[in-house]
Order: sequence, then structure tokens, then C-alpha cells
Amino acid sequence: MTGSLLVSELFLSIQGESTFAGWPCSFIRLAGCNSSCRWCDTRYAADEAGRTMTISEITASVETMKTPLVEITGGEPLQQNNVYTLLKTLCDKGHTVLLETGGFLPVRNVDPRVHIIIDIKTPSSGEHEKNCIENIERTIANSDRPRENVEFKLVIASRRDYEWAREFLNRWNLTSCCTVLMGTVFGSLAPSDLAAWILKDHLHVRLQLQLHKYIWPPDRRGV
Ligand code: SF4
Repeated sequence: MTGSLLVSELFLSIQGESTFAGWPCSFIRLAGCNSSCRWCDTRYAADEAGRTMTISEITASVETMKTPLVEITGGEPLQQNNVYTLLKTLCDKGHTVLLETGGFLPVRNVDPRVHIIIDIKTPSSGEHEKNCIENIERTIANSDRPRENVEFKLVIASRRDYEWAREFLNRWNLTSCCTVLMGTVFGSLAPSDLAAWILKDHLHVRLQLQLHKYIWPPDRRGV
């Protein structure tokens, strides 16, 4: 197994998001991200250089954590070409593999066995013009992988974000065919407000809180 990646941190935690929330999970947080979301909560992963690790070293470290579930996150993991080999390797080893991506880069070349959580950035991020629409089109069309292996995630900081998100989902009729997660920017919007809006509009989305920020201090790294 050749190839290396820049790694921000490797850690064992409880999966805090997605339909896999609550499960023990080994996390591989890759370094680097060319985007600048205003409310980014892992800026350190984007800004710090990270340490170079071979794919063999990463997978060996993951095996010591002894979880069926493994997530590759960032930063923006798809910025590093060797991530595709790492994802395939972890699938071949029998793991259930999650990939969390900011949604700016195409996911078409990711191993179809991977469960991908794709952000759809909202206006408060300052980056919503960069959403990769191809990912939405190809998921709806079932082009690269079963739709069941894709979850879209919207992070909401305000009523304006919510209304933008509702309009976006309606335009693509996304909730009729795909799992859509909706959560809040921690500390910016009360989950009870978002819950009330979702219920009032009968929006078919799954409300998610970042479990790890309730279990541990919200600014703690490595959880
Ligand atoms: S894409 Fe993710 S890591 Fe990059 S700035 Fe946005 S929230 Fe942070």
C-alpha cells in the first residue's frame, strides 16, 4: 500500500452526526481546506500543516481503535488525492466507512461502498455559491452509488439560512429521494427554534445535533 496523506488527528469517539450518530467511531481527520466557512469549528485542521502518514500507518492506527465504523473527515478530505485509496482500503478491510465532505468537490470517484455525508453550505457560511451541484444531480440520478449511501447536511445559523435551505430543498425535490440532515450552528441558533420551523413546515428532514458537543465541552479537539 503506497501513498501518504497529511493528517490533522486520529481519534476514537462517539459519532456525533449523520444517521450513524451515537455509534463508537474511529475518526481520521485530514489536514487542509481551501474554503473559509465563517462558522467552521475545525479551523485548526484547515490551517495547521498536519503530519505526513502513509496509508499503512493510518490503517494500522485505525485498527488499534477497534471499531467497525470509521469516518474520514477534515478539513476537506477530497483535496488530497490519496484519500481515494485510503477509502477503498478501509472498505476492503470490512469497515463501514463514512466520508464527510464540505460539498465543494465532486464525489463521483469515491468508492461506491462509502457512505458520504455532503454539506450543502448555507448563506451564513459565506461559501454557499461554491456548492458542487453535480453531486446533487448525480445523486438524484443514482449515477455513481446507491442513493442510500449519500446524506446531505445543511447547517443553519439563522431564519434566513432556514428559508434559503427550504427553498433549495424544494427546488431539487431532494427530500423525496434522499436523506437530508439539518442541524444548527452550535451557539448561534437554538435547536428548539429549528425544530419548531421544521415541524411547522412539515419538512421531511432529520434534525441532528452535534452529540459530541453535548457529551464533551463544545470546543474540545479530538472528540
Ligand atoms: S469546508 Fe469544512 S473544514 Fe473547510 S472551512 Fe468549511 S467547515 Fe471548515
